[in-house]
Amino acid sequence: MKRALVLALATFVTVAASAQLKPRPDAFPSVPEVFASKSVLMADNMEAMAAWNRYPTYETYLALMQRWAQEYPSLCNIDTIGTSVNGRLILCMHIEGRRDSAVAKPQFFYSSTIHGDEVTGYVMMLRLIDTLLSGYGRNPQYTGLVDSVAIYINPVSNPDGTYHSGNSTVAGAVRENANGVDLNRNYPDPFAVAKASLQPENEAMIDYVNRHNFRLSANLHGGSEVMNYPWDCFRSSVRPHPERAWWMDVCKRFVDTSRVYSNSHFRDVNSSGYIAGGDWYVIHGGRQDYMNYYHDCLELTMEISTRKTLDAENLPEYWRFLQHSLVNYIAEIRHLPGAQQGIDSPGQDTPSLELFPNPASDRVIVKGITDGATLQLCDLAGRVLAEQRYCKGTSLDISALPAGVYLLRAGGAAVKLVKR
Ligand SMILES: [Zn+2]
Repeated sequence: MKRALVLALATFVTVAASAQLKPRPDAFPSVPEVFASKSVLMADNMEAMAAWNRYPTYETYLALMQRWAQEYPSLCNIDTIGTSVNGRLILCMHIEGRRDSAVAKPQFFYSSTIHGDEVTGYVMMLRLIDTLLSGYGRNPQYTGLVDSVAIYINPVSNPDGTYHSGNSTVAGAVRENANGVDLNRNYPDPFAVAKASLQPENEAMIDYVNRHNFRLSANLHGGSEVMNYPWDCFRSSVRPHPERAWWMDVCKRFVDTSRVYSNSHFRDVNSSGYIAGGDWYVIHGGRQDYMNYYHDCLELTMEISTRKTLDAENLPEYWRFLQHSLVNYIAEIRHLPGAQQGIDSPGQDTPSLELFPNPASDRVIVKGITDGATLQLCDLAGRVLAEQRYCKGTSLDISALPAGVYLLRAGGAAVKLVKR
């Protein structure tokens, strides 16, 4: 019942939104940008990246990451998030300055190109890594940021899509991974029940995120120029994000700053340059909502170029108008709003589950369901790990569960359980 209602609502929202706004390119399968192929200039060695007006070959990308790690060993190290279907590396540059503090620094995460053909962000992220590392100790803003925030940058999270035609070119890049799956529709979704199995790239990313404590993040895309804040799976009139006002402020600062350097950008969707994702187009299984809902990490979807695969010679222009906004967005982590709240279960007719204690290590008491109801313990992909009939007064033994985040479901309601 509830699910049917949500689906019907989503359909209605989609129709209503498309009547007023440009359809979200992000919502459609990719069409290779054949016209761009003449201008997809590649750098097959590190020196050819000097002016940042080339796309790196896969080998050049690996070499750049390696060189930074060797040049700045006290400032950065490379994490391997995992490998793609075809065995390419999904890498993350961890940048952190002074590490002698006893106080844990807030953790920030940038990730780009989950859609393999949306490659502007890929080069922006590489250039950001270079800028922060080379600016440390010279530029007070970069130095302060790198000293006070643990910064993680994953330049390309779908390398098989980006190098679909081979390691030597991004011409012919595609949106999906090597299994033909759109990775930004493949994350666990709070209320979408039927899900395809998790792809290796996302499984690795989820594991990586579980091992960190990211408080603020962004996922970079292309195809439009707009800041897309949560939720993607609801229209804001149905369920606004609890920090909607904060999001709008942050997005406005990002857009306003970029317009100081180029007034013509962030205008193809609406005049403000930012929008609640669901008001543009409702999607399910996106990473943004996954991060916000399951990790209490404030993640924003940044659509940064109207063309998915920019002409390589236009990359420096995009850096010029985006660089200050990208750096300032990291600094927003110093001014996060209060404790995040997840979204409640929609609908008046669904029970509300309560768990105590949560997080828990041994036993959990469940409240809010009726005797005899079936209680399901699921992983974040929705797979049922265990099932039992609920009897009032009983508690769940979770002592054998590995530490992590799980879902408890009963009677159409779901609640997060954190196992310590
Ligand atoms: Zn995209």
